[in-house]
Amino acid sequence: MLFERLQKPSRRILLISLVIPWLSAPVLAETDSAKASKKSEVLIAELAEDESVEDVEQSAPLQTKGKDNKARKPEAPQGGVGIDTPSAGSRKVAPNIDLKQVAPPPEAQVSAPADTDADAAESEVMATEAVAEPEPQPEPEIREGKVFTLLDNDVMPGTSTRLAWTPGIQIAGLSQTTPVLVVNGINAGPTLCLTGAVHGDELNGIEIIRQTMYDLNPEKLSGTVVGVPIVNLPGFQQGSRYLPDRRDLNRHFPGSPNGSLADRIAHSLFENVIRKCDMLVDIHTGSLKRTNLPQLRADMNNPDVAEFTRGFDRMAVVHSSGSAGMLRTAAVEAGIRTVTLEAGESHRIQQHQISAGVNSLTSLMERQGMISRMFVWGDPEPVYYDSDWIRADHGGILFSEIELGANVSEGEILGYVSDPITNAQHPIRSTTDGRVIGMAVDQVVMAGFAAYHIGTEAEVPGE
Ligand SMILES: [Zn+2]
Repeated sequence: MLFERLQKPSRRILLISLVIPWLSAPVLAETDSAKASKKSEVLIAELAEDESVEDVEQSAPLQTKGKDNKARKPEAPQGGVGIDTPSAGSRKVAPNIDLKQVAPPPEAQVSAPADTDADAAESEVMATEAVAEPEPQPEPEIREGKVFTLLDNDVMPGTSTRLAWTPGIQIAGLSQTTPVLVVNGINAGPTLCLTGAVHGDELNGIEIIRQTMYDLNPEKLSGTVVGVPIVNLPGFQQGSRYLPDRRDLNRHFPGSPNGSLADRIAHSLFENVIRKCDMLVDIHTGSLKRTNLPQLRADMNNPDVAEFTRGFDRMAVVHSSGSAGMLRTAAVEAGIRTVTLEAGESHRIQQHQISAGVNSLTSLMERQGMISRMFVWGDPEPVYYDSDWIRADHGGILFSEIELGANVSEGEILGYVSDPITNAQHPIRSTTDGRVIGMAVDQVVMAGFAAYHIGTEAEVPGE
């Protein structure tokens, strides 16, 4: 029995379902539209680098994207994507699943051997107990929606499904797959991809993706939404930011098939999923007990990306050109409009931050013509072209006096570091006027700890 299962990949896939109550509407209303309008004339400064800044250098101009679009177009979809594409013969039609329904629990997973069958394993469809065969004929009212091929599955227009991706780096018989949600609209339109938990301990994005996607009706959608809620499944299972080899996955994109573990995972995701996207939102949180105001990190020197950021409602934008190896950087270089969405802190599920993320993604889909609903736009948030970390100069216990999102002035006291033994109180003052876009939670700190991230809107020449 066991041997049989080893040879024949199981169709049951791990499904992680977080039972999180639906959240109430977002709140972040704080704004300064006047300042926001200055942004285009501003001399752009580089974002200060720090350990929780997910960013870096230069993004290159578009290349592959246009090609991809054309290649993907017609009724006869190409097998998978790019390099890792298996033979077209292995493709199958994905079952139409109502993502709102509870999927059957995963059974003990015994997967295919990694080498030749890895691709087949990737294509396994989750929740096999759901309808095995979708309607063979698309409904007559299909309006130019296209078959969307992903991971060797054809997702018909007007359907939703749950696929599975595995990078094939684990012990073959023990490998686990990561859910990939797809909602393929009945109408033609762009492909928006959402990725969460590239850092395994960053949980808000997982729930942002679930709520955003489970509420989409494929019969009313134009285009396709693809969500990978938990990219770094090993890290997620261990509550760790990193991969089992202690590497940061978000420094290894677009990856390589022959490199380190991180390179291989990055490569598999990038070739099998990311290259299918026209737009990508990679969702993160602050790290190391720091929390981030919901914000986009984007290379505002790239006109396509800058335009893309305008579709997100009530999201501050922090300019950052991105570093080598980041998913955002690699995707932009592949011609995919990409931003990082930061919301809250790691290891936590934060309703307020999640609501802000869901609201913003909903507005994005509306702006891109993918959905139409009554959407009330807030005032535009400012773009922060520069930012500084303010560090503690003394060790002790950090107590903040200000809150995330506060507007502060130069010299203002942001918090104190209190020495529990001597009772000395050391104030930390802002070195600039700006807004608190990220900050440490109250905790024990050492001298040099980056405590407050202050975003500044660069000065307009002549003002
Ligand atoms: Zn992260």
